[in-house]
Amino acid sequence: MAEAVTSAPRIGGWTLTYSGFDAEQEGLREALCSLGNGRFAIRGAAPEAVAGEVHYPGTYAAGCFNRLTSDVGGREVEDEALVNLPNWLPLTFRIEDGEWFDLGGVELLDYGQVLDMKRAVLLRMIRFRDVEGRETALTQRRFMSMATPQIAALETTVASINWAGRVTFRSGIDGRVTNSGVERYRTLASRHLTDIGTGVVDDETIVLEARTSSSGIAVAEAARTRLVRDAEPIGASGRAVAEPGWIGLELEADLEQGGRVTAEKIVALFTSREPALSEPGVQARRTVSAAPGFDELLAEHARRWTELWDLCSLELRDHADHASAVLRLHTYHLLITVSEHTREVDAGIPARGLTGEAYRGHIFWDSLFIFPFLNLRLPEVTRALIRYRYRRLNAARQAAREADFEGAMFPWQSGAGGEELTPTVHLNPRSGRWLPDNSRLQRHINVEIAHNVWLHQQVTNNVEFLAFYGAEMFVEIARFWAGIATYSEDKGRYEIRGVVGPDEYHDAYPDADRPGIDNNAYTNVMAAWVLWRAPRVLEMLPGQRREELSRLLGLRREELERWDEISHRMLIPFHDGDIISQFEGYGELEELDWDSYRERYGNVQRLDRILEAEGDTANRYKASKQADVLMLFYLLSADELRELFERLSYPLEPEAIPRNIAYYEARTSHGSTLSKVVHAWVLARSDRERSWDLFTEALDSDIADVQGGTTPEGVHLGAMAGTVDLVQRGFAGLETRDEVLWLNPALPQGLTELRFKLRYRRHWGLEVRITPDRIGVTAPPSDESPINLGLDGEVVELRAGQTVERAL
Ligand code: BGC
Repeated sequence: MAEAVTSAPRIGGWTLTYSGFDAEQEGLREALCSLGNGRFAIRGAAPEAVAGEVHYPGTYAAGCFNRLTSDVGGREVEDEALVNLPNWLPLTFRIEDGEWFDLGGVELLDYGQVLDMKRAVLLRMIRFRDVEGRETALTQRRFMSMATPQIAALETTVASINWAGRVTFRSGIDGRVTNSGVERYRTLASRHLTDIGTGVVDDETIVLEARTSSSGIAVAEAARTRLVRDAEPIGASGRAVAEPGWIGLELEADLEQGGRVTAEKIVALFTSREPALSEPGVQARRTVSAAPGFDELLAEHARRWTELWDLCSLELRDHADHASAVLRLHTYHLLITVSEHTREVDAGIPARGLTGEAYRGHIFWDSLFIFPFLNLRLPEVTRALIRYRYRRLNAARQAAREADFEGAMFPWQSGAGGEELTPTVHLNPRSGRWLPDNSRLQRHINVEIAHNVWLHQQVTNNVEFLAFYGAEMFVEIARFWAGIATYSEDKGRYEIRGVVGPDEYHDAYPDADRPGIDNNAYTNVMAAWVLWRAPRVLEMLPGQRREELSRLLGLRREELERWDEISHRMLIPFHDGDIISQFEGYGELEELDWDSYRERYGNVQRLDRILEAEGDTANRYKASKQADVLMLFYLLSADELRELFERLSYPLEPEAIPRNIAYYEARTSHGSTLSKVVHAWVLARSDRERSWDLFTEALDSDIADVQGGTTPEGVHLGAMAGTVDLVQRGFAGLETRDEVLWLNPALPQGLTELRFKLRYRRHWGLEVRITPDRIGVTAPPSDESPINLGLDGEVVELRAGQTVERAL
């Protein structure tokens, strides 16, 4: 039937607004309008819809994985995926004996959808005419409680415009869901839920229980649906309707012309991974029966968000209104994925958040981009994320042993158990071919984990945490790097061979019979960094714990000597004078005719797929998917990098940096959304205009789905967080180093003010205000000791209750 006219989404202030329904855009809207609380999340799908070409309802719980075996070209392939849980949204209605409401069956007169980021509420407003000529207004509000993480709620109000009659609501829970959100995976096994049982608790409550097929996680969802008018329950009692794997209730109300009635659906979600649990089914029933009404739940949820935003929002003034709003959306997505509630469960941060099934919900190195923002706001959450890795330290030790290395080797893709989950094959949708996937050779994941431990320590100075978790991992990762590095007599240097760097286009030398490339500069330099920092990490520990840990880990003096030696003599390849080679031999690769490929294909972000489909390979060319060498300038401050290069006896003239940036910028396709964040960052000081352009392009990654179809499969949380961090650390020049909080701002042109709060050491809510010519930092009143603030190259003391200001 006819549809209301659509227009582009509008993002401004605290809202993301859509007018009109657009089937083509629905997947993207669903991902962007997801709701969550760090424990559970749900895509912003229409409650009356089922999964299909247009809609894809998805409910996910942090860390809830399951394994299935599929047949890929005659081979058995096992995959572990974040499980799509039973859909608790289903809610539709009909008037008299008409059809159940569905967008396809009515004429839309008006259609609007608004994500209210301030309160984390999704609203939907529809006016439609049905085949009988009846006009109806429908309003829906929903949220996933940030106050009680197992509670979600959906409120649906039906208002008659020109008719009177009986309305029947149908409210259900659907356990027949599968993991089918990603087209590329559709040939893979997808049914993760088994033993689905349903029940009716009372005349307003239904329950559905299931189990994940291999991990045996019990799942229970209970829903209470109550009809309300003028805030009073009307006492409608539900009639149960059941189908295999599906349970629902039908409730009726009579409407006068111009009258309205509201269905309040309150849902409790439990898995057996929830803390403080008896049985998921019992708890779900109990929680829902004790839950207050929609408005009360909403009020406590909104209060939590007010507190969160108070600490987490970044305020940009002037031409950056749009940027401000997109940054809010990015921050919103961070907070729905990881929050204080994540602390209570064992879960990492999936690259695509909890908003879709791309990458099967696996955890990569993306938290490198996510940690800095969270560290300075919710360090208890970053500690939880470090503990996610710590619990998998033994698995990483085992992986190292099995590969004949020492220490701990963390997997490139991680899920429930800590073993390597990177698929062995991946599909090129362009050629239709399944190809070997060597991306697991990205050993640099072990830099990410160590770096996060280091950064957490710099920000929080939490020696206890370091003593019990961080230091042990750091030491084991240092051991891994010291073990994988081999000495080359010819080169007189240590090297690391057979790896893949951040740029995934290069996973082997052209025509080589082994996977991997040698001496990826990023990997080598950062491995040297880990080995340089590891003794310092040990020094930070109280003496007794240092000795105890050294004994427990059997740490020998010779090992420390070897770390020191390697951190002085690791190989860094160069070509064309001072260009740091992405890896050894990169300089000899062919130049790609970028113009011709852009002309022929338009979008060349996935050049690897284009070339493979042509029977060629990206391995032959000086062409990168994403920032690789430039990651060094992103991750380490200029001072730290200079010190490290000096230690390694390599030159790093200041003029070499812009030359390296320009060199790789011309040879990067930005096939990963992380890439533009890094490029914007490294240009932030030398080319503010270009940096701002790249920053705004990075802001568009998800809201405009720049990769043409990947955001509907889940947002790119690393890039989202990276843009926020670019503002807080990049533009503000914020660095936490040597017991000093440094701020050395460089606001982009046109940005007249930047304000944000952060937590540093034990100061809760330091306020930072930056204008082009002034910076001010205020510490709220407390009993905490002063901190060292570095402004304009000078270190000053900032006491609680004081403000320090400087002209810039
Ligand atoms: C990127 C990786 C990233 C992964 C998950 C890939 O496309 O190349 O760097 O970790 O996506 O976001």
